[in-house]
Amino acid sequence: MKKIRHKLNKHKKVSISISVILIIFSGLLVYIDYNNAQKVLDSIKVIDFEAELLKRQEQFLNKIKSLDLETDNSITKFVNNEISFNSIDYIPEGLESIKSEYIFDTKWYWKVRKVANDSLQKLAKEFYMEFNIKLKVVSSYRSYNYQKGIKDRWCPDNLCAKAWYSEHQSWLAVDIFAASTQQDWQTNPNYTKYFEWFKENAHKYWFHNTYQRWLEIDWYEIEPWHWRYMWKDLAKYLFENELTIAEYYNKI
Ligand SMILES: [Zn+2]
Repeated sequence: MKKIRHKLNKHKKVSISISVILIIFSGLLVYIDYNNAQKVLDSIKVIDFEAELLKRQEQFLNKIKSLDLETDNSITKFVNNEISFNSIDYIPEGLESIKSEYIFDTKWYWKVRKVANDSLQKLAKEFYMEFNIKLKVVSSYRSYNYQKGIKDRWCPDNLCAKAWYSEHQSWLAVDIFAASTQQDWQTNPNYTKYFEWFKENAHKYWFHNTYQRWLEIDWYEIEPWHWRYMWKDLAKYLFENELTIAEYYNKI
C-alpha cells in the first residue's frame, strides 16, 4: 500500500513538473508571439510615419508651386531686370513705419507693408539681443520716381534695378547697415558678423537674401545688405535648398 502511494506521489510530481514545463513553454511562445507581433506593429508604424511624411512633403511642395509670383501685391511677386511690376505706380495697402526701439531708421521715413513689418520687428529684436545694437535700415520702399532718380544720377544696371523693376517697389525689401559693395561687407568685421548671423536666422522671420549668385543668375552683383520678406514656407524652402528666389523662379 505504501509502495502504491509512493508511486502515485511520484506520478503526481512528474505530472506537475510536466504541467509547469508546459506552462513555461506556453508562456515563452506567447512572449515570442507578442514580441513578433510588436515588431510587426512597430514596422507598420514606421511605414505609416514615412507615408505621412511623404504626404506632407508633397503637400508642402504643391503649396510652394502654387504661389503667385506674378500679381503686384502678392507677397511672392518676382521681379528682375526683365520682369517688372504690372503697374508703374503700384502701392499696396497697410504700410507702416519701421521705426522702433530695435531699429534705427536712417531717414526717419522708411516704411514697409504691415505683414513684413511684424516680422522685421521680431527679427530686429533678436538681432538686438545678440549684438546689443539696433538694426540699421538704410533703405526700404522706393517708388518708381525715386528709383528713376537713383538710376539717372549714377547707378549702373549691375548694381541697381531699373525703375519699375526694383524689389524695393514691393514694400517688402530692406537694405541694412550699408548698401555699398560686397567687398566692403567682406572686409568690415562687423558686417561680416552681422551677415553670418542673418544667413542663419533671417529665414526664421521669413526674410531672404535676394542677390547671392551674381549677375548671370540674380541679375545683380552680390548684395549682403538686401533682404526681402517672403511668404513663410518659401523662405524656409529657399533656405533649406540653398536657392535664391531667381533660381527658384527659373526652376519652376
Ligand atoms: Zn536693396
